[in-house]
Amino acid sequence: MALALYRKYRPRTFAEVIGQEHVTEPLSQALRSGRLHHAYLFSGPRGCGKTSSARILARSLNCAQGPTPEPCGQCDSCKSLAADGAGSIDVIEIDAASHGGVDDARELRERAFFAPATSRYKIYVIDEAHMVSSAGFNALLKLVEEPPDYVKFIFATTEPEKVLGTIKSRTHHYPFRLMPPGVLRPYLEQLCAAEGVKVESAVFPLVVRAGGGSARDTLSVLDQLIAGAGAEGVTYARAVALLGVTDVALIDEMCDALAAGDGAAAYSTINRVAEAGHDPRRFASDLLERLRDLIVLQQVPDAATKGLIDGPSDQVERMVAQSARLGPATLSRCADIVHNGLVEMRGTTAPRLLLELITARMLLPGAEATEDLLQRLERVERRFAIAGSAVQEEDARPAARPQPTAPTPTPRHKPDTAAQHKPDATAAQHKPETQAAQHSPETAAATQHRSETQAGQHGSETQAGQQTQVVQHRAETAAAQPPAPREPEVKPPPQAVMDDPATPEPERPGSSLPPQLDVTGVRRAWDEILNMVNSRKKRIAALARNATVRDLEGDALVLTFQSAALAGMMSKETSVLSDAIYEVLGARFELRCEVAGDQRPAPAAQAARPAAGPPPPRRRRRHRKQSRCRPKTGPSPPGRVAPPRASRHRRRKTATRRRRHRRHVPSPTDSRRLAPPRLDVAPVPNLLLPRPTPPGRVSLPSTRTTTARGRMPPRRARPRGGRVRGFRPRRRADRRRGRRAHGAAEQRAAGNAVVAADLRRRKDRRGLG
Ligand SMILES: [Zn+2]
Repeated sequence: MALALYRKYRPRTFAEVIGQEHVTEPLSQALRSGRLHHAYLFSGPRGCGKTSSARILARSLNCAQGPTPEPCGQCDSCKSLAADGAGSIDVIEIDAASHGGVDDARELRERAFFAPATSRYKIYVIDEAHMVSSAGFNALLKLVEEPPDYVKFIFATTEPEKVLGTIKSRTHHYPFRLMPPGVLRPYLEQLCAAEGVKVESAVFPLVVRAGGGSARDTLSVLDQLIAGAGAEGVTYARAVALLGVTDVALIDEMCDALAAGDGAAAYSTINRVAEAGHDPRRFASDLLERLRDLIVLQQVPDAATKGLIDGPSDQVERMVAQSARLGPATLSRCADIVHNGLVEMRGTTAPRLLLELITARMLLPGAEATEDLLQRLERVERRFAIAGSAVQEEDARPAARPQPTAPTPTPRHKPDTAAQHKPDATAAQHKPETQAAQHSPETAAATQHRSETQAGQHGSETQAGQQTQVVQHRAETAAAQPPAPREPEVKPPPQAVMDDPATPEPERPGSSLPPQLDVTGVRRAWDEILNMVNSRKKRIAALARNATVRDLEGDALVLTFQSAALAGMMSKETSVLSDAIYEVLGARFELRCEVAGDQRPAPAAQAARPAAGPPPPRRRRRHRKQSRCRPKTGPSPPGRVAPPRASRHRRRKTATRRRRHRRHVPSPTDSRRLAPPRLDVAPVPNLLLPRPTPPGRVSLPSTRTTTARGRMPPRRARPRGGRVRGFRPRRRADRRRGRRAHGAAEQRAAGNAVVAADLRRRKDRRGLG
């Protein structure tokens, strides 16, 4: 039977102990100078040479040549304490894991007072010292503090913090450490040469990695590989299969895919990892190690020669290339992602899924640290793209248009630029006319509503025809009105909603400068802006959907609304919209909200102007209703002067009328920005009118109407509040319906009778009261 490698090659002197020079050298020096302590504490992770060092120390102390760091190996003590020796009666090894009780400690204490039989010292090596119970330690305490001259204690433990403080303070503490790969690898090569086994050089890093820095674990792994090796020695493929580590080729593929941003390659690599039966967690941790190696390589180009990374030279070359392709920011970000993913993978039921998610995150462009920068870059790019395409379109248009002077981007207008255009005196003259002009569509709408109310008997065609006539008539009268004496610098009212050919385009600057944004560009990006607003504040987005981008005057963006109420609400809260515009277009605009067909800004926007314009809407509820009720007429056709607004009093009156009207006829639900004109909407049937009885069914003379929630007494008859006996919630109503199948008109009649009786009773009671 072959002896295990770690036993066969157990060091016999301190000089043979590898990787623990910080411990062995002071100890050797102490032995040489004879400054010996009576108790030592060796601590450190498993397999790094504590017990071996304790035995060497015992051997060194008891060698016939005197306490020496180099035991002779010839004397009886050295022979008996050799790896294959019989052992010495004076060197007592105690496994505290099984002998840590207080009784064992007492026994040890009693025996310790007998002098050594043959050797110089009686040496107690207490392994796994942290397993000694606290009572046991206390029993030993006195002995460890003042032992006889010939007694030495060597405690070895993996957890020195568990050793009783009072014991620890009486010892010399030597901490052992894990062995670095740079130490282990040459040792392994040397050992394989001594064993006469051929091992591929790519195997050593795997073995070292598998050993985790512990010499014993490493030797065990190597032992296992050598035991399973055939005539060709230990091959890389065999080692990979046996150790379950990820093939370097897979890691290489993954790194290449990440560097190229090739998602297909990355996911096929994951598929192969799964197919090969590798653990996705193991793959992730191996990938993390590779990323670490790449990061180190990036910072230290000669890391391989310095021993910072380990691997065959061809692999190091590949890694250098990978680190150059991946770049420091990506590498560090990927390493972070994989590390966090590994934490998440702990205990997950679907590690492969998580690995795929991690990969997806790695393939994304880095967005955490440089988010702001990226966003700004994207904004600039988008602005270039939008403005660039606008310029192209403009080139494509054949019409020769008078080129107005470019609106120079002045630094922020005052909010009342429109007010500056016209002096107050002209505004006063101007106002009644605009109001009168506005009055006509309102009345037209009112007429329309009235006709709708009467339209129960009329067909929808005649109704629509009537409306068209009314509207046409109004438009004609509006057009027939003499034009208002306007100032020359006042702009013509907006004509088109979407693409306005008459909109002054800014002059194109030189190609080196970024192209100027124009109103077409804003319109093109409007949907995106709305989406952004919607993601922040739904209410503002709903408001902004009613807006039409009319014009871009300098750095003032003019939005038009169908109603003054909407414009007023919008102009109060422009910040969200303004921010969204900035996010999308990269430019800040002052937002001016106006009513469609009106040149004046919204009431809230012109608060600075004294005694002009209607006050801001105080009773919002009413206004909202009004705006909902307002017919959604489309944009006024080009070339026509928009009708002026109605007076406030008239508006209120119409609103009240409409509100009453609304109870009977629900308005079309579609309130989008470009809703078709009301004229096209088919009239909604009046629900309260008696429905035609389907053929083959007897209509019963009933005062009830069927609603969605079962059967209810008629609206008028139902008293407010309080429970009505005739009314049942849905389930019971269903049951009743079932009963009704058996027959009963009588049932219903009875129910009616009950309700009628109930009502009568109530009425009587009220009369009495
Ligand atoms: Zn000796």
